[in-house]
Amino acid sequence: MVLAESVHKRFGRLEVLQGVSLTVQPGEVTCIIGPSGSGKSTFLRCVNHLEQIDAGRLSVDGELVGYRQQGDKLYELREGEVARKRADIGMVFQHFNLFGHMTALQNVCEAPVQVKGVGRRQAREHGAALLERVGLGDKLGAYPSQLSGGQQQRVAIARALAMRPKLMLFDEPTSALDPELVGDVLKVMRELAEEGMTMLVVTHEMGFAREVADTVVFMDGGTIVEAGTPAQLLANPREPRTRDFLSKVL
Ligand code: ATP
Ligand code: MG
Repeated sequence: MVLAESVHKRFGRLEVLQGVSLTVQPGEVTCIIGPSGSGKSTFLRCVNHLEQIDAGRLSVDGELVGYRQQGDKLYELREGEVARKRADIGMVFQHFNLFGHMTALQNVCEAPVQVKGVGRRQAREHGAALLERVGLGDKLGAYPSQLSGGQQQRVAIARALAMRPKLMLFDEPTSALDPELVGDVLKVMRELAEEGMTMLVVTHEMGFAREVADTVVFMDGGTIVEAGTPAQLLANPREPRTRDFLSKVL
């Protein structure tokens, strides 16, 4: 589903991704852990066409991200083409970024109606079912300001799912939440994983990584230092840098 081969990304002189290679198979959950500034968010943003890579190759579901290949030449995608590809990928951020003037249900229905041309009635039915599924069946008409952080984040997850994505990206979805609200959000993510959604999750929740991930990846300094099953990587890291990081967070 995601194939990254030696992906490089720089901002000015700062090389933020220095050759990231990673494969996520359909139906798999990959968790990315690593210190602040190691390039985790930048990598997710590249996967979601929010940043253009400088070198290497990155594809989602067999299609190149950001470029179109003709013969052996690469052409940058136009904005419309990028938007169409991004519609297949759901992304959930640390800060939920809901539309404040719209109810939970309106937030969830907006993109399917505006971007995919889904009929309003169908969008509302699907949206209500999704909100029910994330435990917010009684909050369809609530505005974001009337919801807790954990509830807002679950609306954000439902909103991403409303586009029927092939891939879900999560960038520290629980980092901004009060501790007692984290569990409800992780539960929704765990259920999604069990239903077979392909997920790439940047997280500091080691319990979630241990129990839900198929693969855990440790990033540092713009590269993947080590990847493995949760049992290998979290309990038996090979690299000193991984061990050092885990000793601080576990
Ligand atoms: P954190 O755990 O704090 O979220 P991260 O691993 O997600 O960190 P990134 O946000 O990917 O790290 O940032 C990696 C590096 O790239 C940092 O040094 C950051 O300052 C830099 N960076 C990120 N985005 C930009 C940008 N748009 N312009 C310039 N530098 C950037
Ligand atoms: Mg980040």
